[in-house]
Amino acid sequence: MLRFKNLGSGSAGNATVVEARCGAQVSRLLIDCGLSVKELSKRLAQADLTLEDLDAVFVTHEHADHIGHTQQLAKRTALPVWMSRGTALASGVLEWGLPSDKLLLVKDGQTLTLGSLQLQPFTVPHDAREPLQLRCSDGASSLGVLTDLGHGSDHVVQALQACQALLLECNHDSELLAQSAYPPFLKKRIAGPLGHLSNSESAQLASALNHSGLNLLVAAHLSERNNRPDMAQSVLSLALGCGIDDIPVADPLEGTPWYTVQ
Ligand SMILES: [Zn+2]
Ligand SMILES: [Zn+2]
Repeated sequence: MLRFKNLGSGSAGNATVVEARCGAQVSRLLIDCGLSVKELSKRLAQADLTLEDLDAVFVTHEHADHIGHTQQLAKRTALPVWMSRGTALASGVLEWGLPSDKLLLVKDGQTLTLGSLQLQPFTVPHDAREPLQLRCSDGASSLGVLTDLGHGSDHVVQALQACQALLLECNHDSELLAQSAYPPFLKKRIAGPLGHLSNSESAQLASALNHSGLNLLVAAHLSERNNRPDMAQSVLSLALGCGIDDIPVADPLEGTPWYTVQ
């Protein structure tokens, strides 16, 4: 069985737990550690988990809302840290003093195994050195985790074919961003091809990834200033032909409940 729970989503800090169970074997991956260890422990406790229940942390890229507290977590728990070489170089992880067997450099196109979890990292268009997002599977079902990208490239669409569930960035509404008090350079960066997905770009991507077996799409990484949950839900539900209430939105601070991928 494959399930996941987002623990927080957006510029205040990202973290998602993905869990696969196969018989007595339970494997859990933490994707990103943008939360302090104290806050992470608190949110894990709400999910009846502790830091000791995690088996590895995968860092998608070097932006602070994703890598933020990974060093502190790795020192405290000795959890293996997985990331691309580019993320390692950009974040200075090689100077963290991790034992060599605790740092795994991974790349696009690999298939990684963490107990009963299979992971396929793939590159995304985003203004980081070598950002990777993930397809996660227990061998039966697949979850696509996809935040922080400026547009839905063919490569992304290819990597996430036939997933049963998606955690998909829905960063901003283009009008709200254009009218916001953000400085022009920041608006340009966010809306650009290496920035973040607008609601309509996210909906376009959702349409491209839609198939009869797609049972769940969770909107994630919403801008608190330049988006609203109902706006994201409305555009995505239209794209998938479902009801607004069928699109859960990951709360910036609370994340989501557990969702089983099936
Ligand atoms: Zn981010
Ligand atoms: Zn980013």
